[in-house]
Amino acid sequence: MRYLSTRGDAPELGFAEVLLGGLAPDGGLYVPAEWPRLPELPPPGASGGYAADAAAIMAAFVGDDLDAATLARLCDEAYATFRHPAVVPLVQIDHHHWLLELFHGPTLAFKDVALQLVGRMFDHVLGQRGERVTIVGATSGDTGSAAIDGVKGCDHVDIVILYPAGRTSDVQRRQMTTIDAPNVHTVAIDGTFDDCQDLVKAMFADAEFRDRLRLSAVNSINWARVMAQVVYYVTASRALAGPVTFCVPTGNFGNVLAGWIARRCGAPIADFIVASNTNDILTRFVNDADMTTREVVPTLSPSMDIQVSSNFERLLFEMNGRDGGMTAEQLRRFRSTGRLDVEPDQRREWVEGTFRAASLGDAATTAEIARTFAETGMLIDPHTATGVGAVRRLVGAGGPEVPIVTTATAHPAKFPDAVERATGVRPGLPPHLADLFDLPERTASLPNDLAAVQEFVTARSRVGR
Ligand SMILES: *Cc1c(COP(=O)(O)O)cnc(C)c1O
Repeated sequence: MRYLSTRGDAPELGFAEVLLGGLAPDGGLYVPAEWPRLPELPPPGASGGYAADAAAIMAAFVGDDLDAATLARLCDEAYATFRHPAVVPLVQIDHHHWLLELFHGPTLAFKDVALQLVGRMFDHVLGQRGERVTIVGATSGDTGSAAIDGVKGCDHVDIVILYPAGRTSDVQRRQMTTIDAPNVHTVAIDGTFDDCQDLVKAMFADAEFRDRLRLSAVNSINWARVMAQVVYYVTASRALAGPVTFCVPTGNFGNVLAGWIARRCGAPIADFIVASNTNDILTRFVNDADMTTREVVPTLSPSMDIQVSSNFERLLFEMNGRDGGMTAEQLRRFRSTGRLDVEPDQRREWVEGTFRAASLGDAATTAEIARTFAETGMLIDPHTATGVGAVRRLVGAGGPEVPIVTTATAHPAKFPDAVERATGVRPGLPPHLADLFDLPERTASLPNDLAAVQEFVTARSRVGR
């Protein structure tokens, strides 16, 4: 299995290089040179479990870079951290409508599904090569805690996560700062999330620093994360004897893209509903052919407060007939004008019939949390609620033609204030996190200053020691 860049000007690589490399040197994202066919799996009733299905499905993307036994072991270990025997259970909330609960991992958000596995893959590949890396990242909440939890047991990875002081929720901050592992470091930056992100970008742009510390990232454009997410689209559509419609609350488009890939490779999926909050660039693109960036507005679903959906580039590459030069040119225009245009025939072929979309503001999101609680007794988080609400808007009273599955991306206890305001009930943390507020926090504080942050990273990294 070989991978090529969506901008068409980077060497083809195997899976292990793509895993460690992240962004391609031409600025593009890696995609398989050819889409594989999904393997035959045992029928759902005879499945060996989620980890076994995951290993079988991902083998098609990994190729020879990880042997079957290693891939199976990494999947077993990654998904043993989930607090539900089904790992990602399907729960029915209406006659035609299921939730795919992706939040039973260690940090209560769907990012664990990918990062528990990707951390272990990193460690395995680096260990084989006798190498180390330093992962640096910026977070506004979910990604940082999921990345830290994914690598906290890794011998060959040090991680430094920057977060904006005072601007994450207490649960999110404590999920990062209470991890007691020698390779995990968090820094509260006196600034905003954008400041943190700029510091990370500046560290990567400093070539001497980047190479000396072997900087690496596990952000949402990493191919291995997308690949790990393909799995649950395959297993859930099979469990419901598809075709099914998936509704996906989205920001970076990563999760929807994983579903699209599952369909491309043969999973029984009819189409997708893209759900956004007020930051609705994707909804405007699908419904009105309008992809223009606007200011990011803070909402109740902060992990979707994004205006540039970086993973969309992978779909754009397909829409351009896999022409990397054309894709690069289109993205250059997008960056300079703030507007992305695609041709009407491209929309007909790639968007219509494949994607529907709706966006919910905070009031509608709150109403959806309340309504779901009243109808089913279930508490859903604000991200999931944008999805459930989008389904309600787009699916008529006669019901859909095929079952609908909404991906439930966060546990309600991760956003307790919004859930309590909507329902009067405060969701409790699951038992494995019950002591979160008793554990000591371990974190550093630094000014918004590149030199200070670089000094901190240099002192903590074990690369070259
Ligand atoms: C990251 C995240 C999303 C958005 O996922 P994308 O892959 O960026 O579309 C949605 N919900 C939650 C809870 C998240 O953490």
